[in-house]
Order: sequence, then C-alpha cells, then structure tokens
Amino acid sequence: MSLQDSFGRKFSYLRLSVTDACNFRCQYCLPNGFKPNGPSNFLSLDEITNLVQTFARLGTRKIRLTGGEPTLRRDLVSIIRAIRSIDGIEHVALSTNGFSLAARAAEFADAGLSSVNVSADSLDPARFAERTGQDVLPSVLLGVDTALSLGLKVKLNAVLMREKFAEELLAFQDFVKTRPVSVRFIELMPTHDNSSFFESQHMRASELRASLIANGWSMRERTKDSGPAFEYAHPSFEGRIGMIAPYAPSFCDNCNRLRVTSRGGLRLCLFGDEDYPIRSFLQSSDDSARFEEHLRSVLMSKKASHYLQSGHLGNNRSFSVMGG
Ligand code: SAM
Ligand code: SF4
Repeated sequence: MSLQDSFGRKFSYLRLSVTDACNFRCQYCLPNGFKPNGPSNFLSLDEITNLVQTFARLGTRKIRLTGGEPTLRRDLVSIIRAIRSIDGIEHVALSTNGFSLAARAAEFADAGLSSVNVSADSLDPARFAERTGQDVLPSVLLGVDTALSLGLKVKLNAVLMREKFAEELLAFQDFVKTRPVSVRFIELMPTHDNSSFFESQHMRASELRASLIANGWSMRERTKDSGPAFEYAHPSFEGRIGMIAPYAPSFCDNCNRLRVTSRGGLRLCLFGDEDYPIRSFLQSSDDSARFEEHLRSVLMSKKASHYLQSGHLGNNRSFSVMGG
C-alpha cells in the first residue's frame, strides 16, 4: 500500500539531500557561503540504498538528488547508479547549480540520470556572479547544452527577483526560443536567514503571469506530472516558461513529495517544524518493516498546508539544508 497522509494525499516523489555543502553563495540561500555545522556525516551510499528501497516499495517512483550542491559528493555517480537499479524507481533527477555539469553530464547520464534542473538566477554574467558569488555563467550554460545533447531532460530554475525582472524575462525568453528547455521561475520564499533580501526582492508570481500573457504566452493544460508548476507555451518559442507560486491558495492540495535531509531527517513539508530522525532504520535492510510502520505513523502528522501565507516559516534557516 502506498504512503498516504490523513488528507488522502499520496507520496510518489522523494527529494533527497545528499550533502549540505555548497560552493555557491546565492544571496537568498547561503549569502555568507557554506559553514560546516559539525562533522560531514552525510548518509552513506548503503544508507541511501536502504532508504530508497523502502520508499520504492511504498510507491515512490521519482527521486530528486539535491543539497547543498549534490555534485560535490564524490560518490554521486554511484548513488545515481544504485538508485536507478532499484525496482519501482522510474525517474532519477538532479538539482544542481551547474558549475561542473559540462564536464560531468555524460557520466551522470551513463549512470542512469533521467533529468536535471539547473539553477540560473540571471542570464547576465555580471548579475549572475553577484547573485551566486561565482562568475561562471558561460560554463553553467555550456552544461545545459551538454546535458541536452546527451538526451537528458533539462529545466532551468530561476528565482524570481524584482531587480531587473523585465530584462531577465526577455533574456530567458530568448534562451528558450530554440531550446527545448523549460525555464521555471520560483517565487522567492522567506527563510529565517534571508528576511531583508526577501523584503527587497520578493515579487509575486502573478506579476510574471501577467507579463507572459501580455507577450502572447498561454497556459498549458496541467497533467498529473505537472507538480506545483504552471507552464506557459508560445507558438514562436521551442521551450516553455513556468512558475512555481507557493503563495497560491491551492499550492499544497496535491502535494506528492516528501524530503529527507542529508543526515537522515524526514521532513514532511518544506516549512515543517521538525525533522523526524530515520537514520537508525537505514543501517540494515532487515529494518525495512519497522521503518515502513514508522513512516506511515509519522505521515499522519503532515499538515494540510505550509501556512506560509500566515508567515509560518517552520524550522527553515536555509533551503540548502533540505534541498528546496
Ligand atoms: N544547489 C542546487 C541548486 O542550486 O540547484 C540544489 C539545492 S538548491 C537549495 C534547490 C533550489 O532551491 C534552487 O533552484 C534554488 O534556487 C532554490 N531556492 C533556495 N532557496 C530558495 C528560496 N528562499 N526561495 C525560493 N527558492 C529557493
Ligand atoms: Fe548552493 Fe543551491 Fe543554495 Fe545556491 S541555491 S547557495 S547553489 S544550495
């Protein structure tokens, strides 16, 4: 029987953080860079394998590897390969800042990676450097084209920011003119660590929607795989532009995702108040029946909404801790 919460929502998608470490300093995420907090005792390959085997038995079909920056894990290729070979897992996705994608996309594809989401918050090299602390936009974009040429499904994630929004929107439209890529603007979300940045840069996804419609883009019909994103298409553009609007009233209604932190904390919601420790269940595959029972019981605490609209931030210092 699949994993289900008390509102009847079923969970087929797991976002698994494999490290907290990151080599970028995105202004809204890790503005002062990554500072290690205790030993780097991230889940091992064996623990990850045990974890995913149990989730797959309970109906998980898609795993997203995230972080921190997941490509900093030396054994990332082995992790992708191990997860891909687990019965029931149909899709292994990666979220990355793209700094090493051009060099490594081929080994990721060879290990069985299905798709990659690359973060690029600006298509202007100087602004990209200012927003991420790394002056590497050309090599990130080379990574995108390399991944496309290898047949990987590619999406570009850009956090929606007020500064130079109109200029960025034009540049991203231009980018998808001839590329089969979906650019997804993520509405900036507040965390305990980014309040002043949030105040100055937050803009509603509804403003983006209005600009797209004014420029001739129209909303695509949503499918069961759409997740929380709304996508827009235009007859003159090969790619799509989408948006993730966490403040939209029905955002949580069809939630199908759970999160596990890099040290084995189960997080029921991005803005959840606590992580439920599950690492002790991952030491041996013999514990999977007890683990299953534990997961089912913890899931009953999942709330109906993130309550972001009422200013609830939960235990959320930075998305780098649980992978966004
Ligand atoms: N390092 C990888 C990357 O940047 O893609 C994976 C981890 S990162 C935390 C995952 C996604 O979360 C990125 O697309 C990032 O832009 C987004 N993100 C981080 N903090 C955010 C915030 N406060 N609001 C909205 N999106 C955020
Ligand atoms: Fe690192 Fe990703 Fe956070 Fe940027 S958004 S600082 S790349 S974890």
